Amino acid sequence: MLDRHDLETNHPYISLIDRIKQRCVQLKRPQGSVSLTAVSKNQPFEKIDPVLRLGHRCFGENRVQDAKVRWGPLKDHYPDLHLRLIGPLQSNKALEAVAFFDAIETIDRDKIAQSIADAQQKLGKACELFIQVNIGDEPQKAGISLLEVDEFVKKAQNHYGLKISGLMCMPPVVGPRGPYFALLAKLGQRHGFSRLSMGMSDDFETAIDFGATEVRIGSALFGSRDPAQGAIET
Ligand SMILES: *Cc1c(COP(=O)(O)O)cnc(C)c1O
Repeated sequence: MLDRHDLETNHPYISLIDRIKQRCVQLKRPQGSVSLTAVSKNQPFEKIDPVLRLGHRCFGENRVQDAKVRWGPLKDHYPDLHLRLIGPLQSNKALEAVAFFDAIETIDRDKIAQSIADAQQKLGKACELFIQVNIGDEPQKAGISLLEVDEFVKKAQNHYGLKISGLMCMPPVVGPRGPYFALLAKLGQRHGFSRLSMGMSDDFETAIDFGATEVRIGSALFGSRDPAQGAIET
């Protein structure tokens, strides 16, 4: 068992927050201009609890059902929890997702935009919304394709009436990530977005260099994932 002192000085969370801060200092970006989404998917609660105890409240999950099972019972205890859906959404889960999450980062097609708009209307609730871009145009990957992104952003806003906060991407796993982050930043700028969700455990500093405002970090914070702790990763 870690006592509170050990927890405060030794947990990877401490050095991670510090690295994010340092990067902001180096880039002369304001403190707090990058926020950390702690990606808790497929992690046992023993790994998550210390991060909660250190005061962190923003978590990312990739499946609606897993998130409800884990976080549902904790919502009363942590009223300032902020939960973000970062995995693919099916339109028949949109109502549940809008009801449960504070943010949905994976809007990438008309059917999802429509079902989120309907769900928000029905529930009288507005989530923070991001459009996911398939930034490397990889055939098997989620996200709106580069060719369609401009049209889709406009349609999401004007046709479906969604208030979009920014763009999200997951670049190809091989090769340098900088060009992909730069491209997402350029697309975001073109549409006047101030928020970019990009950067994971092994590339978040590069993402910050290119203007990330939300970094999504799992394994660097909690260690490697156990697929048995929740459904299969996508
Ligand atoms: C799992 C996941 C992450 C976290 O990945 P790590 O490499 O463990 O930091 C970030 N974003 C998305 C969309 C994910 O599915």
